[in-house]
Amino acid sequence: MRIYQGIPVSPGVAIGPALVQLSADSAPVQRAISHGEVDTELDRFHKAVEGAREELQALASGSSLTEAIRGIASSHREFLADPTLHREVEDAIRNGPSSAEWAVASVFRRWIQKFKSLEDEFFRQRYVDLIDLERRLLRKLLPKQGVASSPDHPVVLVTQDPTPSEVVSVDRKQVMGFVTEMGGPTSHTAIVAKSMGIPAVFGLGQIMSAILPGGTLICDGESGQLIVDPDAATLERYKEKREHVKRRFRILKRMAQLPSETPDGWKVSVLGNIEFPFEVDEAIQNGAAGIGLYRTEFLYTEQGRFPDEESHLAEYRSALEKMRGRPLVIRTFDFGADKFAAELGMPPEPNPFLGCRSIRYSFARPELFRTQLRAILRASAEGRVKLMLPMISSVTEYRRAWTILEQVKEELRRDRVHFDPDLPVGVMIEIPAAAITADLLAKEADFFSIGTNDLTQYTLAVDRTNERVASLYRPSNPSILRLLKQIIREGERHRVHVSMCGEMACERPYTLLLLGLGIREFSVTPSAVPEVKRVVRAVTRRAAARIARQAMTFPTPEEVDAFLAEETSRLLPET
Ligand code: PEP
Ligand code: MG
Repeated sequence: MRIYQGIPVSPGVAIGPALVQLSADSAPVQRAISHGEVDTELDRFHKAVEGAREELQALASGSSLTEAIRGIASSHREFLADPTLHREVEDAIRNGPSSAEWAVASVFRRWIQKFKSLEDEFFRQRYVDLIDLERRLLRKLLPKQGVASSPDHPVVLVTQDPTPSEVVSVDRKQVMGFVTEMGGPTSHTAIVAKSMGIPAVFGLGQIMSAILPGGTLICDGESGQLIVDPDAATLERYKEKREHVKRRFRILKRMAQLPSETPDGWKVSVLGNIEFPFEVDEAIQNGAAGIGLYRTEFLYTEQGRFPDEESHLAEYRSALEKMRGRPLVIRTFDFGADKFAAELGMPPEPNPFLGCRSIRYSFARPELFRTQLRAILRASAEGRVKLMLPMISSVTEYRRAWTILEQVKEELRRDRVHFDPDLPVGVMIEIPAAAITADLLAKEADFFSIGTNDLTQYTLAVDRTNERVASLYRPSNPSILRLLKQIIREGERHRVHVSMCGEMACERPYTLLLLGLGIREFSVTPSAVPEVKRVVRAVTRRAAARIARQAMTFPTPEEVDAFLAEETSRLLPET
């Protein structure tokens, strides 16, 4: 039995056989073969094509995520059937002579480059399909590869550094747990794993070579431990823990529809964060009063290209229909850094988190931004929509976005298209510059939503996706607490509603602290809604305020965390 410590990113306990998946990005090593081996390699290539074809067939006809994903599977099948592609790979095997995986990688990479240089935007974006298809074939050809997205039996998936879109396409019924070598606590991949309710431990370092495919793993998303080949007693203990966690969640869920109010009558809204409209149902079943953050970037993955106005609108409508009058905060595209930078073909940047990310990318691609704004405005005529701008760092940027929005409104008026003329426009406060100038932004924006995932990384200079510095990533750092206090105070002073949608809000001790700091609206991953409500219903406003005041006096995050852990177990003993 071996125990590894990683970063707990999604709660729950998973126990099952390991499916070890090499990084989809890993380029195969060129393996020289003799002329006598050519037939074997051709045969391996044909078998891989057949296997991939069957998988895509199942995906295209199965009940996977959405119609759009089934559509993508169909278009991948068409690529896979292309005779030119087959001929080129076969020629590469014969002429090398080279291994099947090397031939696939070299032909696909040449095609990918060709597609990337096409003039036509629609065809250029098809290179993403080629990347996916290459990975699918390589997974068939490389040793130790499994079919990550749809294994035929329940597994704990072990991978290196999956992208958010890879995580979202795994089969939730078969993938019981997620274990990765890389990735930080609030990376978007982690957020997606959490929103899918799959227990996950990230950032374990180089463990893949230490895990035998099929060997038993315990993935403890609560403590961040990965246990390889557990002994009988440990296995029994974790089976009990798994049941306990499930029981706890069932109990919380039963209380989820109770009013969200502290015992001394302080009303607090708890909303959900979503990536897809279908998550609205889960959020509402878990007691969410609305959606406080709709991350729209996944519209891109669903379609494999930038959505047009009608596709945007169809998605927003589909979310609104499920909302039945509850508020829906739609955030404009937040592309870049760990969100689809490669898929979008963004040129590599030395510091992507400090580069052309988020609202900066929207400004750089005004046609995409305007299309999205038009659709959000149109949706606002059909429900309680609010618009949220990510990564705003100054009043100048806010005004620039606002001016574009006004122009789009003017266009719609000209076209006699309905929209809510008073559509509330809010900003994410997730950059220290915005937090420090919250008083200035409060004079212009309609509401604030604090994004501690980015606020923590930018304030502490700690990459949220990098497991090597994850121990420094602490939202309880006194610098963050001071910024939070300042944002909340400025919001109150200027009567601007302040919500919190960063992952910090999901952690019990921090929920307590944030309540005490004066947060009255939380937006969290749907599965965390009952837990947040539970904290709200257990603590008086006065007690929370006292705890927050005391937490602010500690000089280190370690002391803040120790104090909050103690207070949490005192106030919520059964947890
Ligand atoms: C945040 O930064 O806290 C946030 C909610 O946005 P995202 O995680 O999508 O960057
Ligand atoms: Mg953010």
